[in-house]
Amino acid sequence: MPQSTARLWIKNPLGIFTGTDADAAGGIVIEGSRVSELVPAGGAPATPVDQVFDASRHVLIPGLINTHHHFYQTLTRAWTPVVSAELFPWLKGLYGVWAGLTPRDLELATTAALAELLLSGCTTAADHHYLFPNGLEDGIDVQVGAVRQLGMRATLTRGSMSLGENDGGLPPQSTVQEADVILADSERLVGAYHERGEGAFVQIGLAPCSPFSVTTGVMRDTAALAERLDVRLHTHLAETLDEEDFCREAFGLRTVDYLESVGWLSDRTWLAHGIHFDDAEIARLGAAGTSVSHCATSNMRLASGIARTLELEQAGAPVGLGVDGSASNDGSNMIQEVRQALYLQRLRYGAAAVTPERALGWATAGSAKALGRSDLGTLAPGMQADLAMFTLDELRFSGSHDPIAALLLCGAERADRVMVGGTWRVADGQIEGLDVAQLIAHHSEAARGLLSRHRA
Ligand SMILES: [Zn+2]
Repeated sequence: MPQSTARLWIKNPLGIFTGTDADAAGGIVIEGSRVSELVPAGGAPATPVDQVFDASRHVLIPGLINTHHHFYQTLTRAWTPVVSAELFPWLKGLYGVWAGLTPRDLELATTAALAELLLSGCTTAADHHYLFPNGLEDGIDVQVGAVRQLGMRATLTRGSMSLGENDGGLPPQSTVQEADVILADSERLVGAYHERGEGAFVQIGLAPCSPFSVTTGVMRDTAALAERLDVRLHTHLAETLDEEDFCREAFGLRTVDYLESVGWLSDRTWLAHGIHFDDAEIARLGAAGTSVSHCATSNMRLASGIARTLELEQAGAPVGLGVDGSASNDGSNMIQEVRQALYLQRLRYGAAAVTPERALGWATAGSAKALGRSDLGTLAPGMQADLAMFTLDELRFSGSHDPIAALLLCGAERADRVMVGGTWRVADGQIEGLDVAQLIAHHSEAARGLLSRHRA
């Protein structure tokens, strides 16, 4: 394992975004796993350092935090039958393929997604895994192993589906589980893996998939369990108008009314997408402090709509970013996701209201709030030393002026260095201890196998 640093000064970066108003043009000092000091322009650290990293070629930002993903979907990127489908037909096309997922598939898919995220400057990732076909009952256990291998932070959510086609839901019956199995496994996973407090690396959340794939009983009981175990709650909500129609027909309620009726309208909850809310619903979400994970690329890919991010934030609902699953993005690149969010939100609110700093703020401090992490998301004394550094040496940046704006406007896609909790995990654009070429070979073979089992 790479060594943590004693006292390291990352000196005079080419550009820095700390997510705070403090002057840190002279860089930051890392001590152990935390940021200990910000150095003003032209200054030097207040106490001696053991090492200096010359960052004059690097733009320094807090580690990006991804709040919504389905790692397993890296095995079904750009699958021909659903390339141009919207959400419901897209799901119906894919459920049968996903039902063949094996533990080895999930391990490779998780490693591939995390590696791609890490190389794009992401240090903390949430995953929403809701498929537990026969043989994959230990799916989350498999994922914990992959996370630990890469040294990233993750909020792995124990997802669930319990409302199959036979009972009026969308997923095929073979992909759903009984309520008591879901709840017992949720409790087991929290007990086995959930780390509490500052600096946690692995956390477990509870995440019934969506109103159209989970019974109201499981929604209600999961909220009660999350409250008792003090863990976070996650689900998809208000992604498409199809879903809104489903809620009206099945429950006689709009999505937010449904959410409230099952005990989920709280600051424990973060919602994926959150697009189709009216003004009164935004006010209620804000008053409750419920967070929204904005998934710009996925929302464009599936033509789902444009989330009302600024109004949600103004109402008090934190907004973070998510790449969403790799069958609807189809990449897991977090710095590119910030660029997509910047541009999509400009279409809604105009250019002046959505600055590069605001978009980066969603992917850092906003995402940290969504995951309930007060120790992540900004570079300030006492915060965890999670950071990403990008060089502007490629042709695409040549002639650029503002280094923070250049990251997004010129389209940065790969970090040169990434640190998690004071330890370098990416150096010179390479992940420490991971053979990416071998991973690609095994992962793409698994993807072909999954499809051939589906056809057989
Ligand atoms: Zn999703």
